Amino acid sequence: MTFEELNLAPEIIEAISYMGFEKASPIQEKAIPVAITGQDLIAVAQTGTGKTAAFTLPILHNILKNKIKGTSTLIITPTRELAMQIDRQIQGFSYFLGINSIAVYGGGDANEWEQQKKALRDGVEVIVATPGKLLSHLNMAYAKTDKIEHLILDEADRMLDMGFLDDIKKIINKLPKKRQTLMFSATMPPKIEALAKTILNDPAQISLAISKPSETVFQGVYLCYDNQKIPLINHLVSDENEYKSIIVFTSTKKKVNEIVRGLRSKKYRVEGISSDLEQSKREELMRDFRSNKIRLLVATDVISRGVDVPNIDLVFNFDAPGNPEEYVHRIGRTGRAGAEGVALSLINEQDMEKLADVEKLIEKKVYRAPMPEFLGEGPEWKDRAPRGKKPYKKNFKKR
Ligand code: ADP
Ligand code: MG
Repeated sequence: MTFEELNLAPEIIEAISYMGFEKASPIQEKAIPVAITGQDLIAVAQTGTGKTAAFTLPILHNILKNKIKGTSTLIITPTRELAMQIDRQIQGFSYFLGINSIAVYGGGDANEWEQQKKALRDGVEVIVATPGKLLSHLNMAYAKTDKIEHLILDEADRMLDMGFLDDIKKIINKLPKKRQTLMFSATMPPKIEALAKTILNDPAQISLAISKPSETVFQGVYLCYDNQKIPLINHLVSDENEYKSIIVFTSTKKKVNEIVRGLRSKKYRVEGISSDLEQSKREELMRDFRSNKIRLLVATDVISRGVDVPNIDLVFNFDAPGNPEEYVHRIGRTGRAGAEGVALSLINEQDMEKLADVEKLIEKKVYRAPMPEFLGEGPEWKDRAPRGKKPYKKNFKKR
């Protein structure tokens, strides 16, 4: 896709061609249209895929279109080098746009501090900063944050790894509540998800970092009520003797025991595994599962990442995973190395929106399996409300 097709302002298009970018990268193609509408966004994409332009271009576009004056944009990034690099990219654009930026980071001399101070006092449009240094500025009266409309967290996972969580929270406390927040990350660990929940408002999600599920895994979904789930699994595994090694994923530790109790059988062994168990017990259970002494293992996602059991032939999602990527991880436990596998998801009404997110990520509609008759009907499929349609708060008009 070209940048013209992304509806960016002519000045931005000119700046882009000056940089030598011909086509938008996949993350740019997906993130720019969302960011332009003013919606919050969490985007996961590998390094080197053009994330910087994916957030700078739509933000610069909006500053320009809405003639926003003063310090409106704050980009937080983990390292000094990254801050400088992003700042340089914006400087490259500013020749065409008249939008200024400054990199704020530690380790400089008094002169640099004064320069940063002056830019902040003068209301430079874009601040690109590392968390610690920014906080020391923000604690001074001259740094005004009341006009910040765009907050961007770049390399969010790395910032958490580097221990910046508290600083980031302190910074966010100083910002207006009404703002657009964009979060970019190379991975989506639970810590990032938790952070996103607290600082983003109804974000769109874009995820390009992970691979698609294997083609050899048959994916199906049962739309069902909670009280149909246990009988349904019992029915499917007793009826289908061909499944020798089965894993049931659930998102909470609490549910593991409950499910194990419901699935207990006189004919085969059912066990539950979660981070609550001692490491030695977990290893013992995994050994027994691998050697087919345990036919059915109920597990949380915490376990799912490390599990590499070659012959799992059936994976159940007892509930929808917390985020769409986890779905791919979960069902990736089967169908390994070209083997055939089956993945069945039990989706109640609350989880339907999450399933829709999964289908968006894997770019595929999962087969809706009919409920066995004796269980009665399940709930009707409901698609979620359309996303990304919020008007920009400042009367944004499309060209
Ligand atoms: P990321 O933040 O995802 O690691 P960057 O934004 O640093 O990636 O971009 C990586 C490199 O790709 C940079 O050198 C950048 O100039 C270049 N780049 C970004 N977008 C494009 C594009 N659309 N066409 C060509 N090169 C691009
Ligand atoms: Mg980057």
